[in-house]
Amino acid sequence: MTEEQEKIKELKEEVSRLKELAYKDELTDLYNRHGFKDESAKFINEVKGYLENPTRRENFLIKSLSLVIFDIDNFKKINDTYGHQAGDEILKLVSKIIKERVRGIDIVARWGGEEIIVSLIGSNEAHAYEICDDIRKKIEEIAVKWEGKIIKFTVSGGVASFAEAGDFDNLFKKSDAALYKAKQTGKNKIVKASEL
Ligand code: GH3
Ligand code: MG
Ligand code: MG
Repeated sequence: MTEEQEKIKELKEEVSRLKELAYKDELTDLYNRHGFKDESAKFINEVKGYLENPTRRENFLIKSLSLVIFDIDNFKKINDTYGHQAGDEILKLVSKIIKERVRGIDIVARWGGEEIIVSLIGSNEAHAYEICDDIRKKIEEIAVKWEGKIIKFTVSGGVASFAEAGDFDNLFKKSDAALYKAKQTGKNKIVKASEL
């Protein structure tokens, strides 16, 4: 390797390290909001292309995408009862369970405090619902031991499909409205935007 090639390699490594830092959430090791938007954009454009080109559809590999917003139920109460550190552990565990249940290509990020957002690549709303409800059930069954006590917790979620939304902002709004409905109607449930 020449000196120049070595320098280029070093710079490339530095860029990927910086990208990792700029894109990741430290606590959960998921993407942060910025990373999520950037990583999701390529897939969203692909699905948009598919939907907008009925005559050239066979040229597109990815034909659908669904967005899910999860929010831990009564998280403030968990913090207040067991402490902020226990809350952090539960947030990390919920992140891990979601990440393990979806596929490698799907994009999982911490959107804000205790909200986790997922782009499910190639999934329509019905399929996304199945995956999310599976995650919800898994989380419901967990018991975390904390300072001699047992902590139980649940999540709610809202799912929407890109095909019915048209752009990211509208897709987000639809998922968020579905999440709101889940919270309003008793929590520990996943709601589909198409049912609103
Ligand atoms: P709901 O079921 O309606 O979602 O109620 P909630 O209590 O979960 O919702 P609320 O928005 O009232 O509270 C969210 C709490 O999440 C408040 C905030 O202190 C806590 N939180 C946000 N980020 C973190 C974090 O990184 N670690 C911990 N431990 N708590 C956090
Ligand atoms: Mg919450
Ligand atoms: Mg919240």
